[in-house]
Amino acid sequence: MKCPFCGELENKVVDSRLKKDKTGIRRRRKCDACGGRFTTYEYVEDIPVVIVKKDGRREDFSRDKVRQGIQRACEKRNISMNVIEDYLDELERWLRENSEKEISSGIIGEKVMTKLHELDDVAYVRFASVYREFKDVNDFIAELRTLLNKECA
Ligand SMILES: [Zn+2]
Repeated sequence: MKCPFCGELENKVVDSRLKKDKTGIRRRRKCDACGGRFTTYEYVEDIPVVIVKKDGRREDFSRDKVRQGIQRACEKRNISMNVIEDYLDELERWLRENSEKEISSGIIGEKVMTKLHELDDVAYVRFASVYREFKDVNDFIAELRTLLNKECA
């Protein structure tokens, strides 16, 4: 596996443990070339959940895509990768238990938003602004106002 820092392929596993929910293994690796440390996860490959997008197109649920969206929203916020990975576990588990093979992308977006709302208001607004594609600035301000009222309450 390529080192994310220098691209070297050789590395050593320095720690390996079963995840809390026992659905996967988390490995800490150390690059042989630069000594950089990074984490990999190993999961059983299971039957994909199919996501139905707004325009009706279908695609397999992608943990990576959801992670990217969340990470973008959480940039420079005080939210650790562990919190995000734990949430992705929770989301995937929920999807497998509750979806009947297909689920609309809107439901997933709303779930992620609810979670970000709990975690961090700035991350929430960022995610919501991309996800909801606020039609105009007034929608956006209305959302911010709701948020501020909640905080002042
Ligand atoms: Zn390296």
